[in-house]
Amino acid sequence: MHRDRFTKIVATLGPATSSLERLRTLFEAGADVFRLNFSHGQPEDHRQRVDQLRALEKEFKHPIAILMDLQGPKLRLGTFAKGPMVLKKGQKLRFDMDPTPGTAKRIPLLHPEIFKAAEPGGVLLVDDGKVRLRIVAHDADTIDAEVEVAGPISDRKGVNLPNLILPVSPMTPKDHKDLTFGLSLGVDWVALSFVQRAHDIAELKKLVAGRAAVMAKLEKPQAIEHLDEIIEQSDGIMVARGDLGVEMPPEAVPPLQKRILAACRVAGRPAIVATQMLDSMVHSPTPTRAEVSDVATAVYDGTDAVMLSAESASGDYPVEAVTIMDRILKSVESDPLYRRLMDASRREPEATTADAISAAARQCAHTLSAAAIVTYTNTGSTTLRAARERPDVRILCLTPNLDTARRMTLAWGVHPVQTEDAHNFADMVQRAVRVARQEEIAKEGERLVITAGVPFGTPGATNILRIAYV
Ligand code: PGA
Ligand code: MN
Repeated sequence: MHRDRFTKIVATLGPATSSLERLRTLFEAGADVFRLNFSHGQPEDHRQRVDQLRALEKEFKHPIAILMDLQGPKLRLGTFAKGPMVLKKGQKLRFDMDPTPGTAKRIPLLHPEIFKAAEPGGVLLVDDGKVRLRIVAHDADTIDAEVEVAGPISDRKGVNLPNLILPVSPMTPKDHKDLTFGLSLGVDWVALSFVQRAHDIAELKKLVAGRAAVMAKLEKPQAIEHLDEIIEQSDGIMVARGDLGVEMPPEAVPPLQKRILAACRVAGRPAIVATQMLDSMVHSPTPTRAEVSDVATAVYDGTDAVMLSAESASGDYPVEAVTIMDRILKSVESDPLYRRLMDASRREPEATTADAISAAARQCAHTLSAAAIVTYTNTGSTTLRAARERPDVRILCLTPNLDTARRMTLAWGVHPVQTEDAHNFADMVQRAVRVARQEEIAKEGERLVITAGVPFGTPGATNILRIAYV
């Protein structure tokens, strides 16, 4: 099994995607990475999905990455006694810290720090800014507000108070508990929400201790101020446009998306563009033209992956959403402009052996119209340097390490396969050829450009390039 494209698809799982049958259809339609959103769902739901995804891996003999997304210090409403309700313009209501389900008059908001920091005249946004309230008055445990922009609200919708600096730590007690649980399930990536500085990621990395790769979700203005350090510290990045576009003016998001992706490309870190990509498909079997254009733009921007959120987690058309994404990605990638953009945005290799070899491999593959670049790797680092080159062929990542194979499914152009390390030169060529044929990445008579490290079996020593015929 392999995908005929470079850009990857991340599908968030939720109530709309909980049966094994459904997950199989999503995978077949093109989902490469599955996101477990720990803002929602019970531990048992997540455990069941991990079990199902691992069963699919066996069935399809292909690694699957599971991305756990920690809620972080996200502010949320409590729950409502009578389910969703629609707020009307001019309506007055009170927020308080009473956990009893809310009504049309009072809404639970269990975040003491908000009540301390709130200011009359301030804005309170609900559900990615869809509903706007103006704070009229507040004291230590209540906020009275008036609805300025009407709309529906429901259980546990997100709350933002733009411009208000809240003294919150990057990981809540819930995040600590979820992280321990997620790592025990064997997730491959851990994403941290509302990262503000590189130190937040360093702290998470200490806790994860190599058991998963670590991703920073960029959704705060503060994170943008420390962009390069955060990228340097992280294994991957998510452009979390939902909260980013609420914390900052929405028109700031497109330039930031391009700037973040460019910075990730320089650093060689995989990046995901996320949120509202095909949002209308939550209730419609077809996307708007503008949404299709948005997904395409992210691909032209050189992203590693695009993500579905509610579309696949709770929407009515999860499989259709993955299918249309797959089609958009292939359409852009077959546009000659895409290739020209990838070439034009290529950065100089760094002065390392791995980069020198990766740049040469890309050049050889292009000159010889090779079928693929094959990288032998332990940690995946050489594979990511090859992906940073954005070659015009896919990268077959051969690794003895199953964790590496799974993590690499997120990276641009990478097709990971778990196999033994090469034992010697002959084995290096034979194994690459055998796997490339098995995976239908190369046919007889085609060429492969292989990179590896000699002495074989020593990590971090990529130093040879070999061209082989299949
Ligand atoms: P979320 O993150 O879905 O966890 O809020 C993504 C975003 O904010 O865009
Ligand atoms: Mn968010």
